[in-house]
Amino acid sequence: MAENVIQISGLTKKYGEFTAVDHLDLSVEKGEIFGLLGPNGAGKSTTILMILGLTEPDEGTVRVSGIDSISKPVEVKKIVGYLPEDVGFYDRYSGLENLAFTGRLNGMTETEAIKKAKLLLKRVGLEENSEKKTGNYSRGMRQRLGLADVLIKDPEVIILDEPILGLDPYGVKEFLEMIAGLSREEGITVLFSSHHLYQVQQVCDRVGLFVRGKLLADGDINTLSRKLFGSSPYLVEVGIPVQVAGDPDKLKNMTRVLLDVEGVLTVEEKDNKLYVECSHEVTADISRAIVRSGFELIYLNKREYGLDDIYYRYFEGGADHE
Ligand code: ADP
Ligand code: MG
Repeated sequence: MAENVIQISGLTKKYGEFTAVDHLDLSVEKGEIFGLLGPNGAGKSTTILMILGLTEPDEGTVRVSGIDSISKPVEVKKIVGYLPEDVGFYDRYSGLENLAFTGRLNGMTETEAIKKAKLLLKRVGLEENSEKKTGNYSRGMRQRLGLADVLIKDPEVIILDEPILGLDPYGVKEFLEMIAGLSREEGITVLFSSHHLYQVQQVCDRVGLFVRGKLLADGDINTLSRKLFGSSPYLVEVGIPVQVAGDPDKLKNMTRVLLDVEGVLTVEEKDNKLYVECSHEVTADISRAIVRSGFELIYLNKREYGLDDIYYRYFEGGADHE
């Protein structure tokens, strides 16, 4: 069985009457990259703070590598690298000096700290800017320095709160690829939060969709859409030829042809289209069946429930569509 590095169960946090995190169950395996996704105010940061033992839950448990975050926050801190949403550096000092300072705080000698800092600066692509004052760093550079800062104590787990916020698309790609590389090469377990569903999905092994303190679903994107949209995630739109549209008999015929295709579950007419729900990917069979039956194939569009649907239903809509 895979080893769970982060193990959360029944985790609940209330602020007065308001429940920010509501009986959350979640586990992240060793070496996994997990994206905690959800709109603003979903409870992502609160969850992260509880994982780190920085905020006490009202109910439930959190363990990181078997260590209880609530009773042993200091132990947890030793194995987890945390990049908060607003990472702070000493602006008047260089990237190298800032990193070396963190190294010394973590018990390294001056020489060790500098050596390690240089290595990490290279690792995150800041080698050429290592002598520059961090006050003059761009947002992307600060995030990369933040990552180096988190890595200096060789953490087993890294937790990043909204790490790509404010980065330009190129910066996002670069940063996420860096995280993916780290996880792959060094087996580091990564959990990060984001309210940008689109950008993060390509690097996450798994994502959890977190809305109003609750985990609605988790898994890879395909699993997620299946969980959120039921057992038939494949929808094919078929245009109805003019001759058929005006003739109920022909329409019935065409519907029957589609229903005969193996894997087709339902066929419904709407807005001059036939919506064909399928149990699996049978788009090619559908087009063949139409042509073979002598109907004109004017339009066929595969609609897999996916990110778009998830995005609009849970993010764009302000999570009002539970
Ligand atoms: P996210 O990180 O997903 O944007 P947060 O965890 O920051 O969400 O916040 C979740 C909810 O809890 C929000 O409605 C927020 O206003 C509320 N909240 C967070 N921290 C506090 C606090 N210290 N006191 C009261 N309410 C809080
Ligand atoms: Mg937050």
